[in-house]
Amino acid sequence: MNMEIREKYPKTLLNKGTGFLTDYSHSLNPYTGCSFGCSYCYVRQMPVSLFRQDEWGTWVDIKKEAASLLRKELSRAKAKGKVTIFMSSSTDPYQPIEYKEQVTRSLLEVMVQEPPDFLFVQTRSPLVTRDSDLLLRLRERVRVSMTVETDREDIRKAYSPQAPPIQARLKALAQLKEAGVPTQATIAPLLPSSEAFPELLAPLVNRVCVDDYFMGDGSGGKRTRSLGIYKLYKELGLEEWYHPAAYKIVYERLRRVFADDQLYLSQKGFAP
Ligand code: SF4
Repeated sequence: MNMEIREKYPKTLLNKGTGFLTDYSHSLNPYTGCSFGCSYCYVRQMPVSLFRQDEWGTWVDIKKEAASLLRKELSRAKAKGKVTIFMSSSTDPYQPIEYKEQVTRSLLEVMVQEPPDFLFVQTRSPLVTRDSDLLLRLRERVRVSMTVETDREDIRKAYSPQAPPIQARLKALAQLKEAGVPTQATIAPLLPSSEAFPELLAPLVNRVCVDDYFMGDGSGGKRTRSLGIYKLYKELGLEEWYHPAAYKIVYERLRRVFADDQLYLSQKGFAP
């Protein structure tokens, strides 16, 4: 796919944590736009996407000189109180362009020198393992949350064909664990998965978060409905999975393998 890449010089980087992220003082997005372009991505329905003519998933703006800006904003924010950062809320910090541009890595370098109280890294990309050296230096102040919506690669291909394969994400979780970086597997948005999914996760993580469109899209599922996602479930004959109670299927399966204090639902699983 042809991507439109632009360079931007933002005036601010740290945004106030609001809505689903009220547990955080700030959110941080190294890029605007996301080349993974997941079908269910509710950012499509948000101003950042609606103001652009181009289709979500076909463009990325690189935030230039982000590290020096963060350095200033972070020391200012820390002087005012506790700083907890969610990275990222409307892009994937480890989408393919990060291999070359290393904006996310440059931000982590700043955070190693000027540590926030807590940093939550949300990604579905195995590229995050490249930065294990920096993540380790943040010690218990960081958690990497790897999105694994399903264990079924056919489902992953149907819903987010441009995103990394499931096996690569599981391997990345294993590598982060081996390195000693705090992690969790995040089944969000919950997609149809197999019986054996919990057993697959058990050796890799001791923390799992489950979330779905109805609890987690910030609008009780309305934003997702307007994306027309139900059509995809229908085409695949998986309508029973598009339901506010469908998460219970997976949650109950997880409970056979994980203890209650290892399982988190929706917003609690993303909290600092
Ligand atoms: S990776 Fe995240 S931000 Fe990017 S398209 Fe998918 S859901 Fe949206």
